[in-house]
Amino acid sequence: MKARYKYRIYPNNIQIVKLNQLFGCCRYVWNNALSHCHQLYSSGHKKPSYVDLTKQFITQAKRELIWLKEVASTPLQQSLKDLDQAYKNFFDRCGGKRKGIKVKPPKFKSRKSRQSARFVGANYKVEQDKIYLPKIGKIKVVWSRALASKSSSVTIIRDSANRYFASFVVQTNAEYLPKSNNSVGIDLGISTFATLSNGAKILSPKPLKNNLKKLAKLQRKFSRTEKGSNRWEKARLKVSKLHTRIKDIRTDFLHKLSTKLAKEYDTIVLEDLNVSGMVKNRKLSKAISDLGWRQFRTLTEAKCKKYGREFRVIDRWQPTSQKCSHCGFRGGKKELDVREWTCLNCGAVHDRDINAAVNILEIVQPKTKVEIIEEVAEIPVQLSLFEEVADGQRSIILKTDTEPT
Ligand SMILES: [Zn+2]
Repeated sequence: MKARYKYRIYPNNIQIVKLNQLFGCCRYVWNNALSHCHQLYSSGHKKPSYVDLTKQFITQAKRELIWLKEVASTPLQQSLKDLDQAYKNFFDRCGGKRKGIKVKPPKFKSRKSRQSARFVGANYKVEQDKIYLPKIGKIKVVWSRALASKSSSVTIIRDSANRYFASFVVQTNAEYLPKSNNSVGIDLGISTFATLSNGAKILSPKPLKNNLKKLAKLQRKFSRTEKGSNRWEKARLKVSKLHTRIKDIRTDFLHKLSTKLAKEYDTIVLEDLNVSGMVKNRKLSKAISDLGWRQFRTLTEAKCKKYGREFRVIDRWQPTSQKCSHCGFRGGKKELDVREWTCLNCGAVHDRDINAAVNILEIVQPKTKVEIIEEVAEIPVQLSLFEEVADGQRSIILKTDTEPT
């Protein structure tokens, strides 16, 4: 499996100038090629191939623009490869070949956002505390952990807070862990980040909420500065730095939690949440963006793969919060502020989130479910067995599937 390893690098002032020049050239090549593709597309032509684009926007362009020759050429080629791939992903998604999240067509790159350039093959060298890049030199790097294997490429990144990183994609071996014989269902929520089917509740740090006042203050200050001025850049950097700090706190929490869960459980079951739909709800959007559900799912899935665990997602139309996890009785829809309820059928008192988490796990791993066809009834009935009811007696509840919900 593939993993991304990211390290902070510390270019000196001369190297920063050279890196910015490189980022600018990559952006120039990308944007020009993209606009050319747009033009062809609107006049009914097909998108040119990667080779054609290279000829026109690197080889030909270098004859006319001297500054394009001052930077290494592999990152320029990689930039066009990325454009080609971005188009391919988009077309595959439109044609139904690619599943999952909606893919948007490639966009123009802006000077203001995150910048990147990729070196491949023998083009760069990794040394003890430096990375050598052609036409830039040796940049100081802090190897926060060892590289798992030799990477075939390195991407140099500048984020919006002006920090520089080297990112490697390497082949890693899965570290299969021994079976723990434990499985878990997880209900993700707003007040409690995650509720586990064993009853554990995990609260998340709320970095955005905690820094909202500070962020608003910085943003006000930023909006009052004159665009492009020194003070404007200073204020912009302050806003960006706070944003990246908020992001770092969130990511750190999600990494630790997903690793812990993947190490402890053989099977992890999550509910598919319509996050993008929820974020459109403006009341909820700030709270939800602060939580990082989507990122949690991605990280958990990746770590399950790494440790040889099973990762399952159940679809979001399952009535996980309506059903009693003891007897299977459907109590109907509950408002979001109902945190605790009593089952009208068996009398069990439920914590809303724990009950949902148990149901989420139950869908993938049913405890005891025997389906029988009763002779008298025309419709199949489902027999659910459960351990104990409120009054302490063992019972069997017969229930038809056609009951009103
Ligand atoms: Zn019940």
